[in-house]
Amino acid sequence: MKMKNENTVPATSVILLLLVLVSSPTFSQDSRPLILEHVNVINPLNDEPLLDQTIVLHAGKIQSISSGPAPMQGERMDLQGAWALPGLIDAHVHVMNIAAARRMLSLGISTGRSLFTWNYADVGLRALHRRGDADIPTILAAGYPVLANPVRFKPDISAIFLDHPALDDLRSLDRIGPDGARRIVRANADRQVDWIKVFANERAGIPETDPRTRNLNNEELRAAVEEATRLGLPVAAHAYSDEGVSAAVNAGVRTVEHGSLITEPTLKLMRDHGTYLVPTLYGFNLTPDSPPEDRALQPRLEMLLKSGRQAVTTARRLGVPIVAGADSGYEDKEPTIIDEIIQLASTGLSNLEAIRSATSLSAECLRISSAKGALKPGMDADLVVYKGNPVKDLVVLREPILVINGGKVFLHKSPF
Ligand SMILES: [Zn+2]
Repeated sequence: MKMKNENTVPATSVILLLLVLVSSPTFSQDSRPLILEHVNVINPLNDEPLLDQTIVLHAGKIQSISSGPAPMQGERMDLQGAWALPGLIDAHVHVMNIAAARRMLSLGISTGRSLFTWNYADVGLRALHRRGDADIPTILAAGYPVLANPVRFKPDISAIFLDHPALDDLRSLDRIGPDGARRIVRANADRQVDWIKVFANERAGIPETDPRTRNLNNEELRAAVEEATRLGLPVAAHAYSDEGVSAAVNAGVRTVEHGSLITEPTLKLMRDHGTYLVPTLYGFNLTPDSPPEDRALQPRLEMLLKSGRQAVTTARRLGVPIVAGADSGYEDKEPTIIDEIIQLASTGLSNLEAIRSATSLSAECLRISSAKGALKPGMDADLVVYKGNPVKDLVVLREPILVINGGKVFLHKSPF
């Protein structure tokens, strides 16, 4: 997990938000079909694109994809041989505000699985999307994570006790224990989260903790997963060490986040359990924009990147499904899922496999494949369009020219 150790909204964010609100783009009307003509369609479920197609969008869904003219009237857009993908999916985000949510969409990322925000910011963003705000992506919320001691954890998540005063007795305990783990899962479920996040290991991104050390113990992990499963909620485990990952997999989690230090036997265990790996490789790169605290951890991050890349190579060979997650808050200059797609391709995935890890495969992992991650009739009208073919050159993903969210145009650059 990479997130800032702060929980307040600076004045600059408020100003930014106001600017965003006054400069809202115009959205196309839902009442008439939107007809995209002369577009090459990359459906990641297929190996080959469909060339020169007509896509009809109506009432927030893809109505048809066919060659030749549209069978009905509507608002027409000639895409002049541009290339369409389903809206990208980021399986690991920490988006806390509207400006960051809009940055996601401006990059063609129309779905994000939130894995830890404060004060149910993710539940709030999800509500905005559900009421029809076209400038907010689809968010799958996970609320507060389950971890051994919410007060001692960095960053401090004791805000959970303000949101849930009934949990207050857990504040004074050294460990929450299995019963506390169940109660935190239920508190999240009361807020209608979509996922539960658990910490099997400590964090890697701060000097005070060692990512090889366990956070929740086996009993707490099992209790959290059991309770989540009883409530119909899938579980994501933050885990680094072989021991942490195998404990999480044996407890029944659906995804392993990071997993950088996994060995081959544990990857086999994941394959046999059908567990997905979300390696978040790009987050271990240091860039000129990396904060000083990350630079201080340079040797550790380099080690985790190297072993994480090895884990991805082995996972691919063994057939463990690999899903793309940026582990980003999507604040200005923070990494994006596009960085992660390119990193995965540099680690041995083909370009199409890397794109699938952020579309069709991610949708399957997140249990939303009936609506997201593919371009075919009946799916949600979440599309991103590029001038060139991103399967030929992934760098194309950095410059979307058209983004449609739930059938409404969010970003629309010339020449169309
Ligand atoms: Zn994270």
